[in-house]
Amino acid sequence: MAKYIFITGGVVSSLGKGITAASIGRLLINRGLSIRMLKMDPYLNVDPGTMSPYQHGEVYVTDDGSETDLDLGHYERFTGQPTSRKSNFTAGRIYWDVLKRERHGDYLGHTIQMIPHITDAIIASIRAVDDPDVDVVVAEIGGTVGDIEGLTFLEAIRQIGLEEGRENVMYVHMTYVPYIKAAGEVKTKPSQQSAAKLREIGIIPDALICRSEVPLAEDVRRKLSLFCNVPYEAVIEELDVEHTIYEVPLVLCEQGLDEIIMVHFRLVKPPPKLQPWRDMVESIKHPRGKVRIGVVGKYSELQDAYKSLYEAMSHGGIAHRVDVEIVKIAAEDIESGRADGELNDVAGILIPGGFGTRGVEGKIKAIQFARENNIPFLGICLGLQCAVIEFARHVCDLENAHSTEIDGKTKHPVVCLMEEQETVVDLGATMRLGAWPCRLKKDTKALAAYGSEMISERHRHRYEVNNGYREQLEAKGLVLSGLSPDGNLVEMVELPDHPWFVAAQFHPELKSQPLDPHPLFREFIGAAARQGGVI
Ligand code: GLN
Repeated sequence: MAKYIFITGGVVSSLGKGITAASIGRLLINRGLSIRMLKMDPYLNVDPGTMSPYQHGEVYVTDDGSETDLDLGHYERFTGQPTSRKSNFTAGRIYWDVLKRERHGDYLGHTIQMIPHITDAIIASIRAVDDPDVDVVVAEIGGTVGDIEGLTFLEAIRQIGLEEGRENVMYVHMTYVPYIKAAGEVKTKPSQQSAAKLREIGIIPDALICRSEVPLAEDVRRKLSLFCNVPYEAVIEELDVEHTIYEVPLVLCEQGLDEIIMVHFRLVKPPPKLQPWRDMVESIKHPRGKVRIGVVGKYSELQDAYKSLYEAMSHGGIAHRVDVEIVKIAAEDIESGRADGELNDVAGILIPGGFGTRGVEGKIKAIQFARENNIPFLGICLGLQCAVIEFARHVCDLENAHSTEIDGKTKHPVVCLMEEQETVVDLGATMRLGAWPCRLKKDTKALAAYGSEMISERHRHRYEVNNGYREQLEAKGLVLSGLSPDGNLVEMVELPDHPWFVAAQFHPELKSQPLDPHPLFREFIGAAARQGGVI
């Protein structure tokens, strides 16, 4: 039977609960424990797949094709373990399932209630991640304690504590301890109140992780301990890290959080071996130079919209011990000519995935600039589609070539809807999703990067390169360097006579890890660093 760590958040959102949960996962793995990560989201969307990046940030796709919360990206990057469709569920999914069962008559005429029906369904979904080989489930509840929609989730985890016994369940509450400049003081009251809110539902935290901008003095810790009813040594401080989020596991370990967990669960395991992780953090802290990469996207102002992408680029930097400076360029500014100067000032250009018309012409323009000026280029998903459109228009002379997603009437639909997508009506969970195999062509940059002919990568798209144009594209020199094993789908393209011009229909950023940088990001950043004279 697995033990459970439940992580809740108090006072404000955006505390970095996901990174903290992922860091705890990393520490437990390094203690020799087998773990599973889980994220519960109390909102009513069935999954984040149809949510706007403005509201929700990136949609993280698992191998088994689930569209999930971006915290799962942190889980995979920190723990090195793949997540699955079981690793994330929302209140919407729970209600949906319960109501379907009600319509089916499964409840035999009973009144369906929040407790026990919704809470039981939540408990069943939590327990679903527990396999026989799992020692600890690290489960994070999204949102902030006090949110109405979170109540059933808190009730469910309280019940698990009762069922499993308190020694097998640990509640970790993450809170914010603000520093009031005018008073020159840190304030514990919001944390006291959020711990009190938890007590109201019957949960007493076993550890308090305090996000703070200033170190917590002893008297502040004592106060937090006393009023939040948490042992003094279990009041953990998590200051803003200076260089990289990958410092967080080290910070938590220094304060003995993993030891506190071991003692709570009565587990005896040697202290974690963190040297490779430490070395990785050191290499981020002491780079040998800086490389500037322009990301031409639609959500340039949003940090979370391209979360995995930015992380994957930093991993590419780790591989060469260089700092990657991301220059966020709004595709619309390229379109209008406002950002032309910025393209001259970067050593590499990356076009991320995306949907819809806004900014597409700017992306195409940026790709033309990268192609014609020998600037290392990586295109991802829509980035590949735009690269094909650009090549079709400017090299194959197919005037106004386009994707039918953007121009349904184009004379040259070089990117078009996949056949099986033509009848799709619902938007949720209906794209080509999850891991698909791809075969790489000999003597290509793609094969050189991966070092193996068969690869598996995660997808999230509806449109594809139109096979009717393959011959024309190839005749003019575009190399279709990766195809689906049946040869039907173009998965990667590249240009041979260019320092590094590679694009992928899939999302390589989803599988990159700090201890194992993704080959495409490693090679892309390497090419840019060479271009910039850094290596
Ligand atoms: N909008 C494109 C498609 O659906 C690309 C999707 C993406 O970049 N994730 O095919």
